[in-house]
Amino acid sequence: MLSKFMGGSDRPQHLLLNRIVAVIITAADIALTQNPVGLITGLACLLMEWWATPDRDIEHKRGQRFGHRWWLIYEWFIPNHRHPLSHSLLLGLPLRLLWGTWPLLLMYLSQDPLWEILQTPWMVRVLLGAIASDCCHYALDGYWPHQMLLGK
Ligand SMILES: [Zn+2]
Repeated sequence: MLSKFMGGSDRPQHLLLNRIVAVIITAADIALTQNPVGLITGLACLLMEWWATPDRDIEHKRGQRFGHRWWLIYEWFIPNHRHPLSHSLLLGLPLRLLWGTWPLLLMYLSQDPLWEILQTPWMVRVLLGAIASDCCHYALDGYWPHQMLLGK
């Protein structure tokens, strides 16, 4: 599968695939919309794998990287590695987005209601980038497309 083609499914392969996908979706967004704001889609894809990767569910094995203690708290609530609470689009992605950004979210919520934030054009791009990032992560972990929504 994809992990054989990429030479494994460890951190270096996840980062390489994420960068390739980020460039592709940035180029596609800019080509389709004729707007450089498409850079947000690719940037969101890169940031998702860097900051809120599904593998934060094994944070204790990842070492003292930026945000290590922050994500150790998240890990306590995930029953096991690749649980749907970390490795699924429907549960894992929203949970990691909320845990990874809740201070920023609170700052925005003090100014605007959540519904208005979700309707901003850049938020759609952030979500698309995050979904693209997670899908390539799951694919490298051996998930088939029908397993990505709810996990294995
Ligand atoms: Zn994973």
